[in-house]
Amino acid sequence: MTTGQIGPDAYRITVAGADFDVAGTFGVINPATGRVFAQAPEVTPDRLDEIMATAAAAFRGWRRDEAARIAAMRAAADVIEANADYLAPILTSEQGMPLREAKADVGRAVEWMRYYVDLEIPRELVRNDMHGYAEVFRRPLGVVSAITPWNFPLALAFWKIAPALRAGNTIVVKPSAFTPLSILEISRLLRDVLPDGVFTVVTGGGKLGAALVAHPHTNKVSFTGSTEVGRLVGVAAAQNITPATLELGGNDAAIVFDDVDVQEIAQRLFWASFLNNGQACLAAKRIYVQDRIYDDVVEAVAAVARSVPVGDGKVPNNLLGPVNNKPQFDRVAELVNDAIASGAKVAAGGAPIKGEGYFYAPTVLADLTDGVRVVDEEQFGPVMPIVRFSDADDAVRRANASPYGLTASVWTPQYERALRVAAELDAGQVSINVHGLGVQTGLPFGGHKQSGIGVENGIWGYYGFTETTAVTGFQAVPDVSR
Ligand code: NAP
Repeated sequence: MTTGQIGPDAYRITVAGADFDVAGTFGVINPATGRVFAQAPEVTPDRLDEIMATAAAAFRGWRRDEAARIAAMRAAADVIEANADYLAPILTSEQGMPLREAKADVGRAVEWMRYYVDLEIPRELVRNDMHGYAEVFRRPLGVVSAITPWNFPLALAFWKIAPALRAGNTIVVKPSAFTPLSILEISRLLRDVLPDGVFTVVTGGGKLGAALVAHPHTNKVSFTGSTEVGRLVGVAAAQNITPATLELGGNDAAIVFDDVDVQEIAQRLFWASFLNNGQACLAAKRIYVQDRIYDDVVEAVAAVARSVPVGDGKVPNNLLGPVNNKPQFDRVAELVNDAIASGAKVAAGGAPIKGEGYFYAPTVLADLTDGVRVVDEEQFGPVMPIVRFSDADDAVRRANASPYGLTASVWTPQYERALRVAAELDAGQVSINVHGLGVQTGLPFGGHKQSGIGVENGIWGYYGFTETTAVTGFQAVPDVSR
């Protein structure tokens, strides 16, 4: 085992409550150093039959008893919470996010489990009268295959795990090969908490995700990741007529009107883009600022960017860590260099930070416009391109002129105006005077256009892990309790 290991002696796959031996491992890199710090077990596609059979067998018992499901999920949330101090450093080592953020990501796993434990599922009795009885039931689908990205490895997995389990499905999760360890450890910690086969994590790279989507036991696919891969997943799921929820990329616009108090919003606007070092699907990735205050906003945000401590997430006080991986680091550098070559002014940052690891200085780019790659494409890194607009129609037209439609935000003290603009923005969520506020357990999250199909969270996310059965009779049913 490589030195610097902070998890167990060896990370193990858990299948049906026990170690599942696999032949190989792959290295996991700490982005703060650029070096491998642990080995993750490599599940190869040929082992999926055994694993999926266990999940399919577990479904038969798990779906039957809702009270038992709720109790087991509640206990699972308690175990995860009790292990937050153990899990967070593993997450920081594989993802790069500061420890405080890593703890928050563990906390979101707990929060989502408890939300779905407590969620009241409304009864859907359509008719029970002299004309007959009709009721709609939401039934679990079976084995859910969940595929997740590297930016928020736990939160985004539990957006799937919690509602899927509550609805009575069993689930097999394949995390990103960049961040396999924290979720793998959670599956080990829950060995004696959840019944065998109910929740399984498989780690591996290459073709494992595709094999999971195509597996005959997969009755539902829930994918979070890039639009490029989401398209492949959607096509593969369609081959088996498997329902798929796709949570994909975004290039979210923030529209800042000239009646805001620039100093008052500067910090909030900065974090709208730099949340998780810009590696958030819903980060503000294009900032449209009205002419009159354009220079003031650029300077105010650049001042915040210059003052934020960047470094190893394990060092207290660092607010931003490294970019998660080398391909992403290279992409950020490429897009910034392209913008500079296109005439953008660098108001802050603009280059990698010298030394080991994948650190990139928080970058604010000004005097650029639509058509430059960093504005038009999803940069997914610590970069904030700020472009000018003249009036509301101009801003809305340009914000909507994107293949993506995940989230957006409108910044103005005039709420009426904010609501009018929000109504015209083609996005799954719009926040006012803040960005990304809609990421809450009880609100639907999902993208329009090429940002995805379907939603997660709230009752809507729960419904995504069910299918309907309408039960009817030509007489009223005397006792309609289930
Ligand atoms: P990605 O490259 O699309 O990978 C996502 C997951 O898909 C990983 O687990 C990956 O496994 C797996 N995968 C790769 N090829 C596959 C295939 N052919 N079939 C099935 N699975 C496959 O995305 P990422 O770079 O990890 O994450 C960043 C992207 O996710 C950004 O575009 C971001 O906007 C998006 N995102 C969206 C949301 C949302 O809720 N809408 C939330 C967070 C992130 P390997 O690691 O083994 O390649």
